[in-house]
Amino acid sequence: MQSIVLRHEADFEGWRHAARRLALGRVSPDQTVWSVAESRDLFADAESTPPQAGTFSVPRALVDLAETAIQARDPERFALLYGLIWRAHRGEKHVLEDEADPLVQRVARLGQAVRRDTHKMRAFVRFREVNEDGATRYVAWFEPEHYIVEANAPFFVRRFATMTWSILTPYRSAHWDGETLRLGAGAQPSDVPDDDALEAYWRAYFSSIFNPARLKVSAMTSEMPKKYWRNLPEAAVIPELIRQSRERTQTMIDSPVISPERAARPPTLPATAGSNSADGLSEVASAAAVCTRCDLYRHATQTVFGEGPLDARLMLVGEQPGDQEDLAGRPFVGPAGQMLDRALVQAGITRNEVYVTNAVKHFKFEPRGKRRIHATPDRTEIQVCRFWLDQERALVRPAVTILLGASAARAVLGRAVTISRERGKPIPLEGGQVMVTTHPSYLLRLPDEESKEREFAAMVADLRTAHGWLAK
Ligand code: SF4
Repeated sequence: MQSIVLRHEADFEGWRHAARRLALGRVSPDQTVWSVAESRDLFADAESTPPQAGTFSVPRALVDLAETAIQARDPERFALLYGLIWRAHRGEKHVLEDEADPLVQRVARLGQAVRRDTHKMRAFVRFREVNEDGATRYVAWFEPEHYIVEANAPFFVRRFATMTWSILTPYRSAHWDGETLRLGAGAQPSDVPDDDALEAYWRAYFSSIFNPARLKVSAMTSEMPKKYWRNLPEAAVIPELIRQSRERTQTMIDSPVISPERAARPPTLPATAGSNSADGLSEVASAAAVCTRCDLYRHATQTVFGEGPLDARLMLVGEQPGDQEDLAGRPFVGPAGQMLDRALVQAGITRNEVYVTNAVKHFKFEPRGKRRIHATPDRTEIQVCRFWLDQERALVRPAVTILLGASAARAVLGRAVTISRERGKPIPLEGGQVMVTTHPSYLLRLPDEESKEREFAAMVADLRTAHGWLAK
């Protein structure tokens, strides 16, 4: 009988190494016993046994399935997976294609369960801000059903590369200090603080976008399973919103006209961030940096928040960061940004005097080979991300806001806008004025130089006009 001790519950590399050695050594599944070391340094080297000589080849799909299913909380998973490897190595190369095979079915169910759990972790982890000796650390508590922390930690490193964070779970913790990922022992829910300013933002925002007339409790609870509610700041307001829904629906029926201005009004800011100070703005930017409210954070490199003076009288709002902005973490630094800079210079505007931001803070794209092609954010993404733009507008309070393109116009005005029909005109909004014009990336897409020059001149004229409103 062969006994294999793996380093931890999801030790795929250790399992793969052992499975290969066992298969080449013709050790059948019923001659193996698999277990996990009681207490080992997670960074210790795996036990190294010299590899067996011989040809070992199993289908890639089986290796991929094993890498996922090994994270399942099933004590038999190592043996089950070795059973499939054994059969594939002994000649059943297409073993996975036999969907009626009980072993294949069981392992496939493990893989599905892990994938579901992975999705939940990526969607429902919420960080809370903790002050540690003057430095900020973001800490999240999550209770996965399976052993998924090891495999998902790199995802959170990519997503929140510039933050210092810890994700605590009952069996394992992941810690990122900006340079090194460290896996440690499990933790207790009490290791995570109860509340912070970020939570107040989400509660206020969730309440502000909640439409009682469209309440579907089953949909809310399936998209946001109750198990995770206690990790989600917005969940605290759900029971009360459900309780009040009938009354609020009646109020909406009684007063059916909700103006775009009212719909676009920013939610109430918590006292900690409403001070109209640079600190308030950087506090909101830090909160946005860990935002996972829509799916766009999943593939983008980082949140790209606005930049410029807090007392800017002119604000420019674009659609979303592009490829270069996503990598640099700054708005309008790519080709469209350079085009905008030239237009600003010609309009007599210094970029340093302007606050520049986007309607959506994460880069939405479609991968095409090695390239990432811009994809337009949809209405829901614009609506959900408007929370951050509202915070910026409430803190900067520009006298004039220039909306570059239809997405920016939708985000601020709360309605669809035809640029050619409304461009260049003053639109009063919340004590200031708004102008709609084209987005510089539209100019970049024009096929010929003549149209480019014509549109560029029109954009410069719009910028000059809006700048002139500041003098009035
Ligand atoms: S696009 Fe906006 S709402 Fe969506 S995750 Fe990014 S910051 Fe959050």
